[in-house]
Amino acid sequence: MGEALEELRDWQSALRAQFPIVVDNPELAYLDSAATAQKPQAVLDAVQSYLTTANANAGRGSYPWANRTTALVEEARQRVARFLGDREDGRESDGSAVHFVSGTSEGLRTVARDWLTEHLGDGDEIIVPFADHQANLLPWLEAQRLLAACGVRITVRELPYQAGSHDYDPAALAESVTERTAFVAVTHVHHVYGGDMNVHRIREVVGPRVPICLDAAQGVGHLPLDVGRLDVDFVVFSGHKAMALPGIGAVWARNTRGPRFEPGGWAGTPNTSGIVSLLAALDWLDTAGPDRIERWTIALGARLTDGLRHLDHYEVLGCQRSLAMDSPVGQRHGIVTFRHRGIGSDDLGFVLASHGLLVRADSLCQAGAIQRDGSVRVSLHVYNTAQEIDRLLDVLRVM
Ligand code: PMP
Repeated sequence: MGEALEELRDWQSALRAQFPIVVDNPELAYLDSAATAQKPQAVLDAVQSYLTTANANAGRGSYPWANRTTALVEEARQRVARFLGDREDGRESDGSAVHFVSGTSEGLRTVARDWLTEHLGDGDEIIVPFADHQANLLPWLEAQRLLAACGVRITVRELPYQAGSHDYDPAALAESVTERTAFVAVTHVHHVYGGDMNVHRIREVVGPRVPICLDAAQGVGHLPLDVGRLDVDFVVFSGHKAMALPGIGAVWARNTRGPRFEPGGWAGTPNTSGIVSLLAALDWLDTAGPDRIERWTIALGARLTDGLRHLDHYEVLGCQRSLAMDSPVGQRHGIVTFRHRGIGSDDLGFVLASHGLLVRADSLCQAGAIQRDGSVRVSLHVYNTAQEIDRLLDVLRVM
């Protein structure tokens, strides 16, 4: 892992220099990218340029600004499809599989309300994660309630996890799958433990017929994502975590298993500046290279867990086999959650903030985690550096 930090150092410095908020605040280390990512200059420029040269509504009007806006929205749809590796028979998708939403929460809810309720029948079963982000549990429970109100009873089963690693457990999942299994929801990268949930194994376990929905909120922009390889049916993500503006996200739908995904109702005016920001952000991320971003953030996460491992007072949550720098598990995608055995998360967060270390120190929106567990989350992106991790470790060491 250490080599990645050496090998990619110049590449990373050049990228870091493109984030004005990072460059202008050298005394701060932003370590909360799982909550939202910072924006490179290219994204800020794209939004500024759009709003000052072509701002109009999309799909309405036939004058040049309106046409330009409509074209940008179409281009962004295709960009999202391409970014996710959507290629039909080697040809690039036309973008019709992509629907813009405000973010992952709304996207998953739209899949649940507008598609899942159409797809399921009485006696069907769905398998969903009970200990991932609550945005990937509550919509499925809501669909169950909506269906029950119409006399359609479905069973919601828990997607099983492996003890100790917090990865999914394919063997146990195989036992939960029945001929009535009609839907499975999974998460790409866990927002608390940072683990890659290895969703490529899920298709093999559930068989060719069952639609799979992927919450990619912590995946898009952090590691390569290929819908062909994963063979999932929905990918849902938030633009703001992938360096675009808040308020924009997307649902990609394969549309080959179950009914076509057609979000109901009149959508109204789209978030055009958000869409423009997403187009620019995905261009930027593609040029930077999700594979290199993945190597960089895994290496930073490993530096942190390796450092924490040598400090008596701290316990890192999640997979224990992936703590060392040279761990063969290499599982944490730049998200590390830990606790101090004697100091609560509020106090820890306060002290870290006073040293300019901006971490997440309150609830992490994890489904089922009713009690606060006193943990602090550090989440990284390509603009973070090994020096920032060392600064953090220096402060943690004396607490
Ligand atoms: N899923 C996961 C895995 C997340 O990390 C988050 C955000 N923390 C969400 C869903 C919800 O994303 P948003 O708040 O952008 O809707």
